[in-house]
Amino acid sequence: MKTAEAYRKHLIFLGRRNSGKSSLFNAFVGSEIAIVADHPGTTTDPVYKSMELSPIGPIMLIDTAGIDDEGYLGKLRASKTNSVLYKADAACLVIDSGWTEFEDEIVKELKKRGIPFVVVITKSDLGKNQELIDLVKSQKFVYCVVSKYDEKSIEALRVTISSVMKEEYEPPLIEDLVDGGDIIVLVVPIDLGAPKGRLIVPQIEVIRECLDAEAIPIVTKERELRWTLESLKRKPKMVVTDSQAVMRVVADVPLDVPMTTFSILEARHKGDLLELVRGLSAIPALKDGDDVLIGEACTHRTLADDIARVKIPRWLMNFIGKNVRFSVHSGREYPEEIEKYKLIIHCGGCVVTRNMMLRRIEEAKKFGVPIVNYGVIISYLHGVLGRALEPFPQVKALYEEMESAKRI
Ligand code: SF4
Repeated sequence: MKTAEAYRKHLIFLGRRNSGKSSLFNAFVGSEIAIVADHPGTTTDPVYKSMELSPIGPIMLIDTAGIDDEGYLGKLRASKTNSVLYKADAACLVIDSGWTEFEDEIVKELKKRGIPFVVVITKSDLGKNQELIDLVKSQKFVYCVVSKYDEKSIEALRVTISSVMKEEYEPPLIEDLVDGGDIIVLVVPIDLGAPKGRLIVPQIEVIRECLDAEAIPIVTKERELRWTLESLKRKPKMVVTDSQAVMRVVADVPLDVPMTTFSILEARHKGDLLELVRGLSAIPALKDGDDVLIGEACTHRTLADDIARVKIPRWLMNFIGKNVRFSVHSGREYPEEIEKYKLIIHCGGCVVTRNMMLRRIEEAKKFGVPIVNYGVIISYLHGVLGRALEPFPQVKALYEEMESAKRI
């Protein structure tokens, strides 16, 4: 139960109002979490519940508002349902009576986003759905017929869901870049932005992956870096720094020692590093008054000299010499109407899954909006991106090609 949301597969329950979705959700979890009532549209906000699904492991279930809700409130609920779709690793499309254009729409949407799904036919205890079963069979959809009163049918659904959830490759943060015995120096500034008494998630995970690879992680602050490097009998395999200290670190790390940043490691682990570097090509084209979106995947306390709200906007405007307009969107829901932005600058997304980050990148691409992440743009604006991409030759080659073609 302690597994963070970012490490859980997300299973979303979708369907028309009053299709028995919330009752099924409760039966699936085995508790009364979602509100269940006889009149349509009772579930307003998506409801989240963590559980263990064998053999997948820890998952997050999301019960959504009926996707066909009517009226203003309904539109709001349906848009929230749409905004949680990007989180889904798999879906249950719940249906209790005839197949309609709503189901067609949902299936289209799920297929478009590559989300595997199971059609779940409910209220089978009422014995009225043979026609529906025949139709779903004819479409060759994976399906289950369940009754909330019949635990066997619910268990069969759990097994079917497990079988459709894909095991996807997730690049590690650093484990594949290091070998046993390698010394890895990690530069962790302890400034006002650092949480009290602990390290942040990507730093902890990089330490853990180094240990898993039987490498030797050495953690130091940027002020002690030079002294740390001088104290070592062997050259480190790599230096990894917090992005905000990259300028200082570059000055202290010998040229024959590769270096990168935690954010760039995170960009590959959670997203698409090539695409996030490609996004830099939007920067030379920015004009006065253009809208730039800063996207943060969580809401957290902000500081006077906040990286998203103050530092990146200041560095970017100094770099381009133009006045662009910044909007910040924080939270796990992805903002709608992103097409008005000329550039999206996204955080590392440490609290969301890789699928969610990839869908954010896909969504930006769909609307033709270039997207970069904090780590990439900070190193770029400070003129050290080539250096910070050293551990990733393919991405570095793209970057150099963009430079020589004067696209950045
Ligand atoms: S989700 Fe984004 S903004 Fe929140 S802590 Fe992680 S990297 Fe920072």
